This record gives sequence, C-alpha cells and structure tokens, in this order.
Amino acid sequence: MQYNYIANASVPSSSGKTIAMLDPSDGQTFDEIQRSNAADIDMAVQAARQGLVTVWSKLGAAERGRLLMRLSLKITEHAAELSAIEQRDCGKPTKQANADAAALARYFEFYAGACDKLHGETIPYLDGYSVLTWREPHGVTGHIIPWNYPMQIFGRSVGGALAAGNVCVVKPAEDACLSLLRVAQLAAEVGFPAGVLNIVTGYGHEVGDALARHPGIDHISFTGSPVVGTLITQVAAQRHCPVTLELGGKSPQIVFADADLDAAVPAIVNAIVQNAGQTCSAGSRLLIEQAIYEPLLARLGTAFEQLRVGPASMDLDLGPLIRQSQQQRVWDFLSDAQVANISMVAQGKVVDEAPESGFYQAPTLLRDVPIDHRLNQDEVFGPVLCAMSFKDEDHAVELANATQFGLVAGVWTRDGARQFRMAKNMRCGQVFINNYGAGGGVELPFGGVKSSGHGREKGFEALYGFTTLKTVAIKHG
Ligand code: NAP
Ligand code: MG
Repeated sequence: MQYNYIANASVPSSSGKTIAMLDPSDGQTFDEIQRSNAADIDMAVQAARQGLVTVWSKLGAAERGRLLMRLSLKITEHAAELSAIEQRDCGKPTKQANADAAALARYFEFYAGACDKLHGETIPYLDGYSVLTWREPHGVTGHIIPWNYPMQIFGRSVGGALAAGNVCVVKPAEDACLSLLRVAQLAAEVGFPAGVLNIVTGYGHEVGDALARHPGIDHISFTGSPVVGTLITQVAAQRHCPVTLELGGKSPQIVFADADLDAAVPAIVNAIVQNAGQTCSAGSRLLIEQAIYEPLLARLGTAFEQLRVGPASMDLDLGPLIRQSQQQRVWDFLSDAQVANISMVAQGKVVDEAPESGFYQAPTLLRDVPIDHRLNQDEVFGPVLCAMSFKDEDHAVELANATQFGLVAGVWTRDGARQFRMAKNMRCGQVFINNYGAGGGVELPFGGVKSSGHGREKGFEALYGFTTLKTVAIKHG
C-alpha cells in the first residue's frame, strides 16, 4: 500500500479510498495508491505554506542548492531501485527506466547549481533614483504530472520550482506515481524540510481539479493533454493564477534528399518507438522529399520489421503501452487507417513471451497519409509513424506547420542555408537539425506554441517562469 507524502510523512487519504495499480506488462494488480480528494490537497497546501514561511524562504540560495545537490546524489545512489519501480509501474524497458532515473538526477544537479545564479537587474532611471528588480518565488507551486515520463517531468518541473525558491504540491498521474513517492522520501532523508515537497495521489478530475482550484496554490505547472490543459487554465483564470502548459505534439521529421540517411534512419525510428511512442515530442509525422521517398521508406520498413515489443523486464525496443484504454486508442487509429485505405509499409513484432493480458502494440509505419486525416492531426500517443512526401522546401514548411500543435521539428539536410531557413519557418518551440533530442537536453529550454502550450521548462529559462519579478524604485535625492 502506498500513501500520500505530506510534511515528510506518509499519510492515508482522508476518504480512506484507494486505487489499484496495474503492471502494464501483464495487466495484473500489484499495489494500491491513495484516492485523495480536496481535503488532502488542502492539507498538503497548508503543510507547504508552513514549510515555505518557517524554513524554505529563510534558507540562502546556496544552501537551497546544496540540498538539491544532495537529492541528486541520493537519486543516483538509488537509481537501480527507482528504475525497477518505474519498469513495473509504467512498463518501461530497463534501458528507458534507467535513462529516466539518470535524467531525474541530472535535473536536480543542474538546478542545484542554478539556485544562486538567478538574479535581478539594476535599471538606469531618473536622476536621484535607483531601480532594481528582484526575482521572487511564486510561493506554493502546484505540479500536475502525466504518466509517460514521471521521473523526467517531475525533475524538470519540481527541480526548477524548488531552485527558484518555491515549495511544491505534486499530483502525479494515477497510473504512474510510485517512483515519485519514493523520491519524496529520499528528499526527506537528505534533509529537505517538512512541507517543501508534498505528493498527493488520485484521479485527475478529483484531486487534480482540487489542486488547480485551491486558492493557496500560487502557480500551476501542467504537463498533459490539450483538453485538460484548457480545463486547468479555465479554473486557474478564476483567481488569475499563472499557468505553464506543456501539452502534446504532432512533431514532423523532415528529410531532404541531401540528408545523411545513415544518421537520420536510426534517429527517426527511435523518435517514434522510444517509450512505445508515448512521448510528447515523438516524431510522429515523417515528411520525405519526393526523390528519396521510396528508397527511404524501404530502409525504414526494414528497420521497423526488426523491432521487438515485450515485457519491461525483457528490455526490448518497446515495452507495453500504459493501460488498456491507451491500447484501444491506438487500435482505433489503426482501424481508421484501414477504413481510409492507408497502406502499411511495415510492422515490428510482439514477442511470444509477452503475456496476453499486457498492453502491447507493434510499431507501425504507414505511408501516403493525407495531411488532413486524423492520423496526421491528432496525437496517437503510440508507436505509429505516418509518412508522406513533399515536392520542395515550401511544401515541406506548409505540411510541417499544418497541425494545431507546435512542439518540435526535426530537419535532416546538409544544406547550411536551408538549415537556417527551415529553423526560422517552423512554428514550434524547438527545432533539431541533423539530430533529434540526443543527450536528454536538461539544459535546453523546452515548450510549445499553439496547442502545444506556453511557457518554458528545462534549462535556466524555466527559472523565469517559476518566479515573479518585483521592481523596486528608490528615490535617494
Ligand atoms: P492528461 O489526461 O491530460 O493527464 C495529465 C495529468 O492531468 C494527469 O496527472 C491527470 O491525472 C491530470 N488530470 C486529468 N484530468 C484533470 C482535471 N480535470 N483537472 C486536473 N488534472 C487533471 O494526459 P495524459 O493522458 O496523462 O498524458 C498524455 C498527454 O500529455 C499527451 O497529450 C502528451 O502529449 C502530453 N504530454 C506532454 C508533455 C510535454 O512536455 N509537452 C509531456 C508529456 C505528456 P490522472 O491521469 O490521474 O487522471
Ligand atoms: Mg502504473
């Protein structure tokens, strides 16, 4: 049984209700979490406020940084344990779960070093005046985290908020909270004061909604779907609470005929099969210049056929999807493809050892998908790659920007001038040229435009979003 973590203590929800946790690799129940409600959120917000006022706001920035660094080291010490939790809870292959634990440690390392480097400015003004700006924390920040990368998204969101001097109340997705509950315990073990980091589990429409509504929450960081992002924004707007939204994407990989295909092919495959395609920045649309359309599809088809899907513990190319409803969602998209006579180029294989009760889906490459088909417009959030061809650079730009989303674009070309033109013409938050998300990018600001959201997390830039600016004008004669 798992409990909420409030004021450095494990506590049951006030309702006494629980939610069963399923292992996506075999669909079996293996644990329970608390089904919390508004009363539990209220308790966490009060604990957070207390922690802020009595201890956290009185710590020097360097001391805050040292605590974050201690947590980073502790996470590294416990990386194998955290990875094992994540493999079971989310069905992640070992390699992916290990990478997520390493990224979590890296976020706390990065933000530990940033704590005492965040400063304001002085501004020249009228004679006899001095004007300065202070970067102040919002106070108690609320963090609503999705199930696809709990450790990574917690690291970037909570790491940045704590570094900027806030205290946090976190609502993980009900499908994936176990690693975060453990991290909160580790934080207490390294000396985090009570109330600085609180985790409350439960359903989004219950406890997530209560978090967004609570008047004691001073800023909300939401990562999840555009639909829920709208709900959170509407709720927060009633009390003018600032919101950072990291929503979904339908990110294009754009391959010109002059590209280095040996470099592009593995990156294109990885960008759609990593985490079984359940990645906001998944490269889910493949735009190929006409001259190389058939040969590149043939190469990718061979690569897809070699991909293997199975239980997390087998550590194959893909694990299962998170839950049955997600599997059904992918099946619905694929049956729509059949109805529209969209052809399949290739599919990987689910291994025989995969239990029937697990939520598996073979990675699938589709071709000639019309730009206005929902496969090219909506997030599948599964391992489905939709290929189409383009005539020239203008056509590539038009297709790349032709969705409601604007998160990431990948561009593959050796032409230097075209690299800059494409980067400029992409309507999105980040552009990768001749690479796609290598290295984890903890240092790189991340976020979207259009329905992919607004605000930036990751990198130093996140700290501006997790603070508010106060201008102080002093007349001294
Ligand atoms: P989701 O349904 O929007 O859920 C995200 C979080 O919001 C979960 O913790 C969920 O809780 C909670 N929630 C649901 N309804 C809520 C409500 N009415 N009020 C407050 N909170 C509520 O998204 P998901 O299915 O978990 O995640 C997949 C989506 O997230 C995809 O669209 C993906 O692209 C996006 N995503 C974006 C990024 C990014 O950085 N841009 C990163 C990862 C994922 P429960 O699940 O417990 O109900
Ligand atoms: Mg789970």
